[in-house]
Amino acid sequence: MSKRDYYEVLGVARNAGEDELKKAYRRCAMKYHPDRNPGDAEAEARFKECKEAYEVLSDGGKRRLYDQHGHAAFEHGMGGGNAGPGFGGADMGDIFGDIFGNIFGGGARGPRRGADIGYVMELELEEAVAGVERRIELPTLVECGPCDGTGSEDGRLETCDTCHGRGQVRFQRGIFSMQQPCHACRGRGETVRSPCPSCGGNGRVEEEKVLSVKVPAGVDTGDRIRLAGEGEAGPPGTAPGDLYVEIRVRPHAIFQRDGDDLHCDVPIRISQAALGDVVRVPTLGGAAEIRLPAETQTGKVFRLRDKGVKSVRSRAPGDLYCKVVVETPVNLTSEQRELLEKFEATFVGDGARRHSPKSSTFVDGVKGFWERMTS
Ligand SMILES: [Zn+2]
Ligand SMILES: [Zn+2]
Repeated sequence: MSKRDYYEVLGVARNAGEDELKKAYRRCAMKYHPDRNPGDAEAEARFKECKEAYEVLSDGGKRRLYDQHGHAAFEHGMGGGNAGPGFGGADMGDIFGDIFGNIFGGGARGPRRGADIGYVMELELEEAVAGVERRIELPTLVECGPCDGTGSEDGRLETCDTCHGRGQVRFQRGIFSMQQPCHACRGRGETVRSPCPSCGGNGRVEEEKVLSVKVPAGVDTGDRIRLAGEGEAGPPGTAPGDLYVEIRVRPHAIFQRDGDDLHCDVPIRISQAALGDVVRVPTLGGAAEIRLPAETQTGKVFRLRDKGVKSVRSRAPGDLYCKVVVETPVNLTSEQRELLEKFEATFVGDGARRHSPKSSTFVDGVKGFWERMTS
């Protein structure tokens, strides 16, 4: 039942580089390619396993996901889409045993618990900051009701004849003595005489599970909430996996978040910038004011202390940074145009140097630049 670790499949270390992966994959492909092993189902399955492992590990993004979440990364729920490598969770581990696993120290693995599930939850910034309780639905495997997850119609279980209840069988492979999960009972140690008709003896059934998830205040994109035991139900007699809810915060129309701090642009008029004014600015806790001094330049940033976000990890809230941006007036009336023309006419000679020092030094600089270029 358990899927083999991709690094073990290829026989490489967890920090293996691109070349090493490629080499390992080529080695596997040479050995197990269906063209070289016609009619050999085992070789074909091995080949598929290697291909799948290589497809995931050779892709930076998928590899990161796999490193974080294991095989659960590619099961339903994660990413909301189908990010999977293209193969279902085949029972290859059971059929062929953990040959590599033993050699490389992975040990024999019986079915110990259900699979973990990843689920991506999208939130608005306001929800992420304030915290929210959300109902989610996810398809998963749950314990079968009629048989209480035992898989047995009459509730009776018998000791497995093949492994005598150990769940593991030993076998000899060359000089190695190995163990692998018992096929007859799937590592459980017990068998069922009359399988439960609802679950076919699996003890688990597929179901759309509805859960209420409490999201704490201050979460941010990439934060994960672990709900222990809310993953897939395991094979009979084992614990269920965990559910990992990964938070993704949608972009906000006004605020950009940077850790505990928030940033926003505040458009102001050219006259407000020149004369000074008090302007209202939005914060997540309601409106606030910033006092623009006279002669405020565009791009100036005002900090509103503690108006940022208090993240799940921080003790104090961050700050809100408001950047004022002077908006050039548009759709001018003839009166406004006249006023501006009069205004512009005052910027002659000494006036320019006095009232717009940056523009005049810029013009001087450009002049000097042209002179140097052409001399
Ligand atoms: Zn057995
Ligand atoms: Zn059942």
